[in-house]
Amino acid sequence: MVSGTLAHDASDASAHKLRERIKELQCLYAVARIAQHPELGLEAMLTAIVRTMPQGWQFPDELQVSLIVDDTEHGKPVNAMRTMQAPILIDKEPRGLLTVSYTDGTHTDAAELFLPEEQDLIDRLAAEVASIVERHEKREQRRKMEAHLRHNDRLMLLSELTAGIAHELNTPLGNVLGYAELLKKDEGDPARREDLQRIVDSAIIGREVVKKLMYFSCEMPSQFRLMDVHELIAGALRLVQRQCDERQVQVETRFAEALPAVRLDPVQFEQVIINLVLNAITAMPVSGKLRITTRTDAGNVHIAVADNGSGIAPDVLRKIFQPFFTTKPTGEGTGLGLSVVHGIMQGHNGTITVDSAPGQGTTFHLTFPAAA
Ligand code: ADP
Repeated sequence: MVSGTLAHDASDASAHKLRERIKELQCLYAVARIAQHPELGLEAMLTAIVRTMPQGWQFPDELQVSLIVDDTEHGKPVNAMRTMQAPILIDKEPRGLLTVSYTDGTHTDAAELFLPEEQDLIDRLAAEVASIVERHEKREQRRKMEAHLRHNDRLMLLSELTAGIAHELNTPLGNVLGYAELLKKDEGDPARREDLQRIVDSAIIGREVVKKLMYFSCEMPSQFRLMDVHELIAGALRLVQRQCDERQVQVETRFAEALPAVRLDPVQFEQVIINLVLNAITAMPVSGKLRITTRTDAGNVHIAVADNGSGIAPDVLRKIFQPFFTTKPTGEGTGLGLSVVHGIMQGHNGTITVDSAPGQGTTFHLTFPAAA
């Protein structure tokens, strides 16, 4: 009789164990299925995992799950007294914590509130979450890189097209300018002279645009020399002093102590700084702050031009280097400033990137390669 009960208890216990193992496996399987749907997005995947996890534990109805990844918590906050935890390790770096807990008073009578196998389960789930986050980050990285490449391809194409247009327009515009000047010289009628002057002025504006397009497509002849970047920045700032004063902009320079000389075209470099500063002034409220920082690493020279202005929305940010793209009213912006800057940086084998968000100000980062 006694032995019969024992045998019965033993088979009960093993049936219970088997049931628990099946639950754990089903839980792992459900999480693996969620991981197969990256199109849901990371947030939705993690929320779904938190929701599905309790089914793997002994007391699913009372179990609370909290999943913290970086600064975001999914699920319910933890009851610190009765918990089981596993760290989320990505590239061996702790990036979060997976916790399951029971509120006080639930199942205090249970022989084991947490089974040893459940620690194994939570470890495996934490590893699965880590791999989901890692894959998500890789996908995001790839997406950004592809967008960047597409953007560069588009700019390349634009640059070729622009070079062609600039060449085709340069000669006829030069002719218009030359012949109008000639006619004006021999013209006695003041009204006709005035008209001819208008033609000359318009042709000059046209030529300025063509010049900028040539800068954008790196078609401008350059005169490279070893130059002191700090001196050139100071010179460029003197040229925009009036505009800064008018808007009471506070200009701060943080120059690196020893900056290597850079091989560059000083006139073009000045244009880069002036364009960036004038854009910054326009984007800032009166008495905004403009900061120009320089530093060097591995011989490269980095310059950052930062403002605390309006910032740039992501859909605008994608287009700012395209020629003729402007958000300014007609007559105020040509949309050529940053395309010229981009072309000049390319002509110097340098790079230009931008960090900006609405309301957060804008920082343009320029990098010039070390002088050979
Ligand atoms: P333009 O100044 O004639 O509009 P740009 O090519 O210099 O042409 O600039 C293109 C656009 O980029 C601007 O119209 C503006 O929307 C945006 N932009 C450039 N610099 C800044 C800045 N520092 N802060 C905010 N927006 C900027």
